[in-house]
Amino acid sequence: MAVKVLAGRRVFLIRRLEQKGVVLLPGVQYGGVVDEGLLIVTPDGKTRLLVADNIVLAAGAVPCDDLYARLLGTVKELHRVGDCVQPRGIMAAIHEGNHVGREI
Ligand SMILES: Cc1cc2nc3c(=O)[nH]c(=O)nc-3n(C[C@H](O)[C@H](O)[C@H](O)COP(=O)(O)OP(=O)(O)OC[C@H]3O[C@@H](n4cnc5c(N)ncnc54)[C@H](O)[C@@H]3O)c2cc1C
Repeated sequence: MAVKVLAGRRVFLIRRLEQKGVVLLPGVQYGGVVDEGLLIVTPDGKTRLLVADNIVLAAGAVPCDDLYARLLGTVKELHRVGDCVQPRGIMAAIHEGNHVGREI
């Protein structure tokens, strides 16, 4: 799941990316990585090659709760808070940690 960017911050970030010459391609699908770069399928169904030497994947996040699974049943009380429940933002992690901390 992707971390949501607040609406106000999103406008600022997009403007700054555009000022820096970053080309944004909304609505594309990823067709695959090839030797020359990345294949994308545009919203009108056309396949395009984005020539690239390097590709950085930043396409969302999934929770990592291996430690929770390993500890489950081995301690009297166990809680999960923050991104290991679901990747969100720092405020959710602080809020949940605070809540659990007050309960125990
Ligand atoms: C690139 C990036 C940018 C972000 N920017 C923002 C932002 O601008 N604003 C915002 O609100 N949020 C942002 N976030 C999200 C924010 O960082 C997280 O929501 C927050 O850090 C979650 O806190 P957490 O304590 O749940 O997890 P984490 O901060 O990930 O802490 C978990 C800790 O547990 C440790 N750990 C994991 N497994 C084990 C194990 N098996 N044994 C021992 N230790 C383990 C990890 O090493 C880590 O130190 C961003 C995240 C990323 C990746």
